[in-house]
Amino acid sequence: MQIRFGILTVSTTCSADPDKDKAGPALENEILRAFPDSKVTFKRIVTDNKDNIIEVLYSVANDRLCDVLFTAGGTGFAASDVTPEATRAVIEKEATGITYVLLSKSLAVTEMAMLSRLTSGIKEKTLIINFPGSTKASVECFGFIKACLPHAVALLQERDSEVKAEHMRIQGENPSAESKVKIQTGASRMRKSPYPLLEVEEAFALVLKTVIPRNEIEEIPIEDALDRILAESIKASRPIPPFPASMKDGYACRAADGGGMKLVRSSAAAGDVPCVEPLRPGEVIRISTGAAIPAGADAVVQVEDTTLVAVTENGEDETSINVNVTPKVGQDIRQIGSDVQADALVLQKCTRITPAYIGVLAMLGLNKVKVNRRPQIGIISTGNELVPPKGPLQPGLIYDSNKVTLLTLLKKYGYEAKDCGIARDTPNSVKSILERAFDCNDFIVSSGGVSMSEYDLLKQVLVEDFNAIIHFGRVNMKPGKPTVFATLTYKEKMKVIFALPGNPVSCCVTSILFVIPTLRHLENYKAFSEWPKIKILLEQDVNNNDPRPEYVRLKVSRNCENKLIGVSTGNQISSRLNSMVDANALMVVPGKTVIQKGEVVTCTLFDQIA
Ligand code: AMP
Ligand code: MG
Repeated sequence: MQIRFGILTVSTTCSADPDKDKAGPALENEILRAFPDSKVTFKRIVTDNKDNIIEVLYSVANDRLCDVLFTAGGTGFAASDVTPEATRAVIEKEATGITYVLLSKSLAVTEMAMLSRLTSGIKEKTLIINFPGSTKASVECFGFIKACLPHAVALLQERDSEVKAEHMRIQGENPSAESKVKIQTGASRMRKSPYPLLEVEEAFALVLKTVIPRNEIEEIPIEDALDRILAESIKASRPIPPFPASMKDGYACRAADGGGMKLVRSSAAAGDVPCVEPLRPGEVIRISTGAAIPAGADAVVQVEDTTLVAVTENGEDETSINVNVTPKVGQDIRQIGSDVQADALVLQKCTRITPAYIGVLAMLGLNKVKVNRRPQIGIISTGNELVPPKGPLQPGLIYDSNKVTLLTLLKKYGYEAKDCGIARDTPNSVKSILERAFDCNDFIVSSGGVSMSEYDLLKQVLVEDFNAIIHFGRVNMKPGKPTVFATLTYKEKMKVIFALPGNPVSCCVTSILFVIPTLRHLENYKAFSEWPKIKILLEQDVNNNDPRPEYVRLKVSRNCENKLIGVSTGNQISSRLNSMVDANALMVVPGKTVIQKGEVVTCTLFDQIA
């Protein structure tokens, strides 16, 4: 559903300098992330003045400039905070429920939310909602209420068909989502997979060939850029340091004066305006590290190489010192551009941004940086037996552990993903969950529903309802054999799908081997072509009875001789997630093979060494 959003930043400071408005742009970003088909049709910054705010609210509602207007700021206890009063003056009906959700959920984040006087309500057909002015809080508040917005707008705008559709969506149904797939029970069900069994390397090569990085770029604040991939090479726009600076605490002097007694003319601390009156023969200026070298000085003598000769009458200032070590020209001076020359290439495109990168950007005076856009990722679980991990468990059901494992696994490697729900094992449910996931995401990771039972419907729904291409549907590995990689076009956009097996270990191992490397590739992270491989000493026999290569989970650590050693994490059955708990590496054991204790083996390291 298309919604027209408006953002009104209420801040006298931002009104004078729009660059200071952080909440407005952050909200816009979040809105478009949550509702990619929608538009932000109104943006304005207004001073903390009640009449001005009222005037803007009236014109937005009367001229129907948007369907939902968020205000950011002016909701606190300061005398100037009047947004709720202005809002109340304009609205015809209060949206008490929205206000309640905003306050109660904010209180769960911080007790300080009790100082927030948010209100919300309806003027004509426009929903007006107050958010706090802080970027974090306003974005959080948007997250708390975003789910109700399509339905609220449909009701306000009397969009009957959309109200009905929203009702059904809320109940997990979708009338237009009648799937073409019919469950094949009994004798008609398939007994052999039609998908060829690919080797892991072959399968991943197919992924790399199919998924082409889109090279979309976004500009973000440098403090949010950690671990992102730099989308532009950065040249120094200015030299660093920008002026000759002292490397020591000591005395700026003329090298030609040599050692001996010198008059202390004045002092120069870091941050002081550079002294322009040239140093005369026999003079020195007391200087601190980072201070600009005074005119005429060409060396710094560190304080340790001097002795005090005389002080002022009150004893507070030095008047003369003795230089004990003859200085050399340039000694302890960082010349202009000695760290970085102007125009030098300092940061290379397509590399991962570390804290020091961010520091270099700041040194160059940059507070924003262009990075490669990351895909929007949605996570789905499938299975009639699954319930969210809370409350009592009915017989036959289990808690959904894969979704939260996948969400946090991706987060660990830097990728934010969205929870797109649990699909039931019916074609309609799988279809409608996928459809909703495709609406807001371009990269879907699902778990379950890809094996051989009549209720494993993922592949069929992908192919029959979405015209997906299944690039592979089986991989020669244990665990993870039924792993599926598919692509399709939905609303003219390419979607990438990894449908992973439901067993929790299979789901983790295949995420590590396929999903994370594909995300790295999509993000154009050139340095990451595969996980690092290391050699370790195996501390126990490992036996693979299966004909498939087994990806044995290992705990790699250092022994007392500082050698890397590995032990298996115990029973390797694919349902036992505890075999992943301490694992930081995977070792491939070929089919029907025993690897003996004491052998040096190569393994794939996907986490830190314990
Ligand atoms: P499936 O791949 O759907 O055949 O599921 C294989 C096994 O994994 C079954 O025992 C499922 O109950 C279990 N399973 C599937 N999805 C999940 C999940 N989200 N969380 C925990 N276990 C799951
Ligand atoms: Mg299942």
